[in-house]
Amino acid sequence: MSVVTRFAPSPTGKLHIGSVRTALFSWLYARRHQGEFLLRIEDTDRQRSTQEATQLIFDSLNWLGLNYDREPVFQSHRMENYRAKASALVEEGKAYYCTCTKERLDALREDAIAKKLKPRYDNKCRDLGLKPTAGTPCTIRFRNPIDGTVVVDDMVQGQVDYQNAELDDLIIIRTDGTPTYNFAVVVDEIDMRCTHVIRGDDHLNNTPRQINLFHAFGKAVPSFGHVPMILSPEGRKLSKRENEVSVLEWRSEGYLPEAVLNYLVRLGWSHGDQELFSVGEMIEKFDTKKIHRSPASLDHKKFQWINHQHMMKLSPANAIKMAEPFFKERGIEVDDSQRSQQIFEAQQSRSHTLLEFVEKSVYFFSDVEEYDEKAAAKHLTLKSQPLLAELRQSLEGLSDWKSVAIHAKITDIVQEREIGFGAIAQPVRVALTGSTVSPGIDVTIELVGRDRVLQRIDSAMDWIDKRSS
Ligand code: GLU
Repeated sequence: MSVVTRFAPSPTGKLHIGSVRTALFSWLYARRHQGEFLLRIEDTDRQRSTQEATQLIFDSLNWLGLNYDREPVFQSHRMENYRAKASALVEEGKAYYCTCTKERLDALREDAIAKKLKPRYDNKCRDLGLKPTAGTPCTIRFRNPIDGTVVVDDMVQGQVDYQNAELDDLIIIRTDGTPTYNFAVVVDEIDMRCTHVIRGDDHLNNTPRQINLFHAFGKAVPSFGHVPMILSPEGRKLSKRENEVSVLEWRSEGYLPEAVLNYLVRLGWSHGDQELFSVGEMIEKFDTKKIHRSPASLDHKKFQWINHQHMMKLSPANAIKMAEPFFKERGIEVDDSQRSQQIFEAQQSRSHTLLEFVEKSVYFFSDVEEYDEKAAAKHLTLKSQPLLAELRQSLEGLSDWKSVAIHAKITDIVQEREIGFGAIAQPVRVALTGSTVSPGIDVTIELVGRDRVLQRIDSAMDWIDKRSS
């Protein structure tokens, strides 16, 4: 039987970081076994589900490359189906109509709590054979087995046993005709032919109820894997804000999709002590046996490091393409010229993210509007002005505009004047970039380009004049 996994988010806000990770695990499992990965939007809660959140799910999966194999399934389109399946269970005596009022159920609950017992339904309507009648609100309840054990043979948690005596008769259809989570999920898993369900361990306690429903439908029970939650860097439960990531915010912060997947896969899964994975390697090596049973903690530093490692592997052509929107935001149109690619190569080891690359590279593409105050005060001085003038002259006549030849020109001046390299490199760096940080000065000069270099040195010399007069 071929593997079918699914991701089943509720579109009620941003995606939880743990959900994105379970999406990844499910996707990897499907890809590892040449199976299918499906998407189901669990939008039965019409009050809380939004189109915007649904779009966010599509866009996030798309950006991460977690492609799904069939059209997404929307639970809200399947209401009739859930009702029909529930009625069929009633017909077969596996479910029943219940007319207990909210007041009665509340009273039962309060009574149990007062007696320090676990609140549960007392099965009042279980054997009454009620039929729905107009004007009397009724639910449909599942006739859960009274005794016996439900064994969850979990891919991650191992064997977890539940006593049926602990599980009461679950409402499967509410008075308003909508299905409850546990019921809709089972109907969907069956219709979608899901073979493996990988999800957060907050759903482990739902699983015995779902298994009983699979049995009632006479269908095979999928394999379950319940993945532990993700904790804060300090090891505590994530706050709402920490938990609700928008993957797309990572995109705007300049993270690479492959690095995000690498970071997420390592939150709770390992393969020996390997930290870095390409997507291909993740697929090849993914194994549910290596999903950790204990929770993982977020580690922002590690995320940065992983992203940097993936930046180092990025081809310059690809990097420029991915960085294009960031340049655009700054009013810069980049082309995929050799120069753009060389600029990336010069900045690659200095950039943890695409955003950092772009922020550090603006001066290659647009004029320097102002100098960093401290840098200018220190390096653009009457003392450095003659050095700038001399370098300008020397560069103006340079025919081979390459870093090696540029370096030689600087060295000539440095040796002749018996000064340190920095005495000239720093002033010219401030002149060209506005600050004291850039790749090697020879490479910087080469890539800024002759005309701009000469013009920026002129501007710097003017600035020194104005400052000193
Ligand atoms: N909609 C549920 C959630 O987002 C899905 C649980 C499941 O995967 O079964 O928690």
